[in-house]
Amino acid sequence: MSLTETRITGLSDGSGARIALTDEDSPSFTDQELAEISQDFERQPASKIIKWAVDNFAPHLAMTASMTDAVLIDLATKVDPAIEVIFIDTGYHFAQTLETVEEVRRHYGLNLRMMTVARQEEELWKADPENCCSAVKVGQLDRALAGKEAWMSGLRRGEAQSRAGAPIVSRDLRGLIKINPIANWTDEDVDHYIESHNIIVNPLTREGFPSIGCEPCTTAVAPGEDPRSGRWRGKDKTECGLHLA
Ligand code: SF4
Repeated sequence: MSLTETRITGLSDGSGARIALTDEDSPSFTDQELAEISQDFERQPASKIIKWAVDNFAPHLAMTASMTDAVLIDLATKVDPAIEVIFIDTGYHFAQTLETVEEVRRHYGLNLRMMTVARQEEELWKADPENCCSAVKVGQLDRALAGKEAWMSGLRRGEAQSRAGAPIVSRDLRGLIKINPIANWTDEDVDHYIESHNIIVNPLTREGFPSIGCEPCTTAVAPGEDPRSGRWRGKDKTECGLHLA
């Protein structure tokens, strides 16, 4: 599998860099403390949660982006314009998704880290999607998070049954702190934020794709269907594994 990593800093002063914390500066939290912080954050705005993450973990902090919309990117870059944004280019994205990446990158001057995987010769997604996601998505995220202490994602409980119990702050299986600042936002919260802040969205969201992954594994959904039913349609698989690790 061929891998490429591209770091694109769009800030006008080129200042993606920060002064690194020493290990002694890095905070450590017990699982009990994380649970209490997470509970407290249920009543806090997302911007305050993001500020906590930046204050405690930057520059050893990154956020992932699926580029379905730029809600979390908008919230996060208002707190820290230089925050590192990871996008995993699986080689199988819709053209509209890659266009959204570029539009968002330019609009926010993102400190974007593209983890690019060359298309495989054999169509592993067809024969073994579990292994395909594991090698392509989870493997690239592991690589992108090496050296980090914490990461953020736009995961929300309302997106799927498998996400219904997601905490705002927890420790992932790597031992990193995982922060989901909008875990408790409803679809209506997201729609309202997009509308009121004129947020860039992937055009596929207006064409029946409320959840957007790789093109071979994503179909449109009919009105009333589960929003994630278009992902790996017809298979038992419901998650790519990014939020399980
Ligand atoms: S969503 Fe499909 S193509 Fe993309 S990594 Fe997973 S199995 Fe492979």
